[in-house]
Amino acid sequence: MAPWPIIGHEWALDLLAQANRGGRLRHAYLFTGPAQVGKTTLARVFAQALLCEQQTDAPCGACRACKRIGDGRYPDVQLIAAVKNVIQIDQVRVLQTDAALAPLEGKYKVFIIREIERATAPAANALLKTLEEPPPQVILLLTSTRRDQVLPTILSRCQIVPLRPLPLAQVAETLQTRWGVEEERATLLARLSGGRLGWAVDAHTDPTLWEERARTLDELLAQTVEGHVGRLAYAEKLSRHGDDVETTLGLWATWWRDVLLIQRGVGDAIINLDRRVQLAQQAGLYRPEQVEAALIDLTQTVHRLKANVNARLALDVLMLRLPKAMIS
Ligand SMILES: [Zn+2]
Repeated sequence: MAPWPIIGHEWALDLLAQANRGGRLRHAYLFTGPAQVGKTTLARVFAQALLCEQQTDAPCGACRACKRIGDGRYPDVQLIAAVKNVIQIDQVRVLQTDAALAPLEGKYKVFIIREIERATAPAANALLKTLEEPPPQVILLLTSTRRDQVLPTILSRCQIVPLRPLPLAQVAETLQTRWGVEEERATLLARLSGGRLGWAVDAHTDPTLWEERARTLDELLAQTVEGHVGRLAYAEKLSRHGDDVETTLGLWATWWRDVLLIQRGVGDAIINLDRRVQLAQQAGLYRPEQVEAALIDLTQTVHRLKANVNARLALDVLMLRLPKAMIS
């Protein structure tokens, strides 16, 4: 079998190669997993495999079809993504009109729909009709970071392909060999990525992500010495961040986790390697029970936000409970 241009996810590749080879294709696949773990990348590569002119299991990457799918210029592969965080019914109607027509060049028409959980109820219901009675040459490749928010009727009509984070060592090695990142930085990026290769590559190539992380950590540190008024003002600011709040809270969780690991004497396993000195100082300012409580509070806040409770209220509580450093 020719190699797939994908790092990791071997189980998923085996499944897709078998389906492609054996002609036992499903009409719809749903790739699930955390943000930037590689769901859309895999969907696009699978589209290449389906339409590759070489007709092998894995895409050749060199033929006209493979190249143009890679560039987003192949007429029989369409990408549909949320506009302003929502997939609207009009986008599904366009898809349905396209899907009813025969493919222009290849054997199939492939529609990649990113973050299907962002579809409005009418859009999801309209899509369900296509999933129930798909035109014969249509393949739908959906992705979702929130499988729990996808309609069960959609789930039941898809082959679900869950993608998991890669081992951190594999991310670090890939960054070094493919992107020429030096070892220390590759290790840091791999740990921060939590095994999401797409995130690690973006953080390497996009300095704004990196600056944002630094700013968020600095803000957390500043908040630990703030009084109640300042903390509530910060909660108000956070509540206006929308989906980014979870990213911020996730980063804070890595910070407290690192502080706790240093306190427990296992500082080698910390994530924020570039902040080792600061973390060591912090470890001396709190009791481990305070840090554990902060971690539990963060987890509970993330759950509350996912359950759509009043975001402002949940963040107020979180900020007021943020531990105060014991200034000696
Ligand atoms: Zn090809």
